[in-house]
Amino acid sequence: MRRLIIAGNWKMNKTVSEARELATALKLELKDITDLDMVICPPFTDLDSVSQIIGDTNIALGAQNMYWKLEGAFTGEISPMMLRDLGVRFVIVGHSERRQYFGETNQIVNKRLKAALKYGFNPIFCIGENLKEREENKTFEILTDHLENGLKDLNELDLPRIIIAYEPVWAIGTGRTATPEMAEEAHHFIRKKLTEIFSKDLADGMRIQYGGSVKPQNAKELLMQPDIDGALVGGASLEARDFIKIIKIGREILNK
Ligand code: PEP
Repeated sequence: MRRLIIAGNWKMNKTVSEARELATALKLELKDITDLDMVICPPFTDLDSVSQIIGDTNIALGAQNMYWKLEGAFTGEISPMMLRDLGVRFVIVGHSERRQYFGETNQIVNKRLKAALKYGFNPIFCIGENLKEREENKTFEILTDHLENGLKDLNELDLPRIIIAYEPVWAIGTGRTATPEMAEEAHHFIRKKLTEIFSKDLADGMRIQYGGSVKPQNAKELLMQPDIDGALVGGASLEARDFIKIIKIGREILNK
């Protein structure tokens, strides 16, 4: 049985005071929930303040990126130890915005993933095709490339700690969502691919989130799909009310 996991990616939004306000609102409503995993990923500058607010709750703290070296002359980067010190447990790796705007390749993503695992984090590993690739029927080819190269040379014992986020790039921040059938088809393919690369047991245990304009209005249909084990939520995680609703929808599905 895979445990549902709903994560909020705040991207480059929220000053410290805004982050405190949002984290406090989430804490009030969500602090006692134990039947699914909840994660919020604020920008680096908010991690300390948010950590102090949610530190004693079941809401886990995530970061949006992480460098693979522990320390040194890497201006502008953030190390695993710096994140660990703040109580960060999850790290988003390979988000399409990193791939698209900051030139991250599968090789770079693979280095980040290995470091995240080595230093004890749960990586949220993002994969997905862009619009052109989907229109050219290359979705499965791209997913295969992201999976085979992103997960290259990983220790199989570490795999259950990885959460895969299938995020069709054309659905991120656009208001366009994959239909539940389209999303399930991709998730099913990802699990099949994981079975081929590793084993059925490992693939069956790994959690695959869907991301791409998830909102309270579409969360139920998406989360009900058999291979969808949660959501990575961008825009709708910036409003406490919407993120709380999505978590509650997740719980309703569990309790059916
Ligand atoms: C994301 O940031 O990963 C994302 C899916 O964003 P949105 O929900 O805004 O599409």
